[in-house]
Amino acid sequence: MNREASKVAFEEAQNLIPGGVDSPVRAFKSVGGTPIFIARGEGAYLVDIDGNRYVDFVQSWGPLLFGHRDETIEKAVLDAVKNGLSFGAPTLAETELAKLVVSFFDSIEKVRFVSSGTEAVMSAIRLARGFTNRDDILKFTGCYHGHSDALLVEAGSGAATFGHPSSPGVPADFTKHTLLAEYNNIQSVKECFADSKDIACVIIEPIAGNMGLVPADKEFLHELRRICDENGTLLIFDEVMSGFRGSLHGAESITGVTPDIVTLGKVIGGGMPVGAFGARKEIMNMLSPDGPVYQAGTLSGNPVAMAAGYAALSKLKQNARVMTVLQERATRLVHGMRNAAKEQGITMQVDVRGSMFGFFFNEHEVKNFADACRSDTGLFAKFHSAMLDEGFYFACSLYETGFISTATTDEMIEATIAASERVFKAIKSGQ
Ligand SMILES: *Cc1c(COP(=O)(O)O)cnc(C)c1O
Repeated sequence: MNREASKVAFEEAQNLIPGGVDSPVRAFKSVGGTPIFIARGEGAYLVDIDGNRYVDFVQSWGPLLFGHRDETIEKAVLDAVKNGLSFGAPTLAETELAKLVVSFFDSIEKVRFVSSGTEAVMSAIRLARGFTNRDDILKFTGCYHGHSDALLVEAGSGAATFGHPSSPGVPADFTKHTLLAEYNNIQSVKECFADSKDIACVIIEPIAGNMGLVPADKEFLHELRRICDENGTLLIFDEVMSGFRGSLHGAESITGVTPDIVTLGKVIGGGMPVGAFGARKEIMNMLSPDGPVYQAGTLSGNPVAMAAGYAALSKLKQNARVMTVLQERATRLVHGMRNAAKEQGITMQVDVRGSMFGFFFNEHEVKNFADACRSDTGLFAKFHSAMLDEGFYFACSLYETGFISTATTDEMIEATIAASERVFKAIKSGQ
């Protein structure tokens, strides 16, 4: 497969844009190749600037539940554009999208729109701190909540549950209120609560998608809810990725655990930049201008972005069965790949939630970030590169989740499994 134009484009981009990309994971660093430059999308396919076509299992890292260039969403955007790109004043589109979001989530009575998941989470945490009048927050190792300072934290060595900045440029002072616990490990949560009486909120991806796909155990979430209630701490479900992907009505609907605040993004914008956070009125009324907690945005609730989000969510509302169909397809995909691997003596761990799928080259079940880190990175890199040559575009890091869209057909799933059989065979014979 010739990817010469992409290689040249990447060279040039690197001279002008750090690493040649506007978001680091796009750079293919962990799989050792160079990124593919995209010319356009067509349903389930990506077409690169060399004219190669790939079945796209990234779908813009989640947002495109209906694939590229969905007719309804495209039309809604074009219609909105004709009325003007931005006003910085209220539009009906915001209320309409808010109605839809509230109708999907039992825990949300009011919602505010922002322009990215990072912004949604950052604002939700400020709101939780303002509401509880406390400073500390608790997050889980391996969960990603955007790139705001207080959340770029990694585990310290030893017993300390307070984290250290995971990036230069983040003062240690800014992360000293961030406690870290281990995903699916309730004991580690209890230790944090023993260390601090000042925890405003616990934030978690109830279906973690940023260490590969690692859903939280139901019992763990129930315990987490109980501990939060006992301590007057708010529970935030970060569903920027899993919202409208993992299930139709949020993780709360499949776990029975109700969060205090939910953050959303990705699918909610239908491919345009939208984030949101919502909660019951009592909490949301703390936000300015009603309350004292400040939060704002020039392009928040942008009419074009709202139109895309509204088109996507109303499509989902009208066709709720979509989620089941996608889940069946995603399951067939990962089971097929796992069987293909097994025939070559390779063990894969796989999981599916709605249209999200995950796989690890790992002998053992993956329950947390430490488990995920024990996966075979070399094998993943070989798999990724060979599948790309076969015309299948998977996320270029083993710590990412895969996505299918309504444009991903059964035939494409079968073709992917068949390609994986060839790829595993080649990998095995090449070793
Ligand atoms: C993608 C993501 C974010 C950040 O959203 P951006 O739009 O990239 O800022 C936050 N939380 C989770 C769970 C995500 O998957």
